[in-house]
Amino acid sequence: MSAIPDYRFDGRVAVVTGAGRGLGRAHALQLAERGAKVVVNDLGGTKEGEGSDSGPANDVVREITAAGGSAVGDTHNVGTEDGCHALVETAVREFGRIDIVVNNAGISRFATFPEADADNLERTLDVHLRGTWHTTRAAWPHMTEQGYGRIITTTSTGMFGLPDNLAYATAKGALIGFTRSLAIEAEKHGILVNCVAPNAVTRPSTSAAKPNITTNTLDEARLQALRTELVSPMVAYLAHEDCSVNGEILVAGAQRFARWFLGVTPGYQSPGTATPSVEEIAQHWGAITDEGDYYVPKSLHEWTAKYMAHLGA
Ligand code: NAD
Repeated sequence: MSAIPDYRFDGRVAVVTGAGRGLGRAHALQLAERGAKVVVNDLGGTKEGEGSDSGPANDVVREITAAGGSAVGDTHNVGTEDGCHALVETAVREFGRIDIVVNNAGISRFATFPEADADNLERTLDVHLRGTWHTTRAAWPHMTEQGYGRIITTTSTGMFGLPDNLAYATAKGALIGFTRSLAIEAEKHGILVNCVAPNAVTRPSTSAAKPNITTNTLDEARLQALRTELVSPMVAYLAHEDCSVNGEILVAGAQRFARWFLGVTPGYQSPGTATPSVEEIAQHWGAITDEGDYYVPKSLHEWTAKYMAHLGA
């Protein structure tokens, strides 16, 4: 096996949102260590998204520059459209361009129905979904003009079912639709868009309001395996110019990296042209849900070609 050359980011400019703590900090340190100029964005609030503090962003900038890297801090709120545009302006003003956006900032407001109200939903969507949308959209004209860009979004395996953090799982699900659809548009501009589902012990994992995680009972080996920096190599790979992956979802952390994909069962095809009955659905439930021979469409068009194959071209 031939040796893979070092993945360097010299001359590249990266924006990492929520980089003052947790996973964002680890992503920013990794990109900076490999030569990227990094905008360390962080509003610095609580894990529920209350308040602000310039300390976390400034601390990470100090850490990067002390190690010989290049970084500037930015405390704009990605939960507002203006904040996202101002953040991208920071990158262009300070470093002259923008090549990489790591949409990582997040909050966690644990609640299920009926406690999860409109305020919970909107505040969660503001940071996770709208923050990603507006930051990416602000960077877009710069990337299309230079014919190059790498965008990373952050979802969560909470998507598999996380009832006690309903708005969070909802926002993270929306990001998968965003990533996959934007990836198709992006490719013709030399831009790649991928999604990371991290797995690491951070502030939200240690919340007393998160009863399904018992961080306090995790042994030392497990805590070591769940270090944030074990997620960042995947983010850096997806952010690199040699990467050709697009529209994918990658799970990373705990010393494992995996592909998460959206598959469809071949299902059951009702014979003839008569309207299928409800009883027919019940009778063929096994075939409808049988995961054998599932397929993984890359786009709506690929799905259509498979799902409607029996109708002919
Ligand atoms: P964290 O709380 O340690 O870090 C998130 C950072 O985002 C904080 O420093 C916070 O100040 C910042 N932030 C929040 N709202 C912001 C805003 N409006 N503008 C700018 N900055 C803001 O949490 P983390 O675990 O490192 O989470 C990072 C991302 O990874 C989040 O999107 C989270 O949902 C996702 N995630 C984490 C895990 C995990 O295992 N830790 C699992 C799945 C997904």
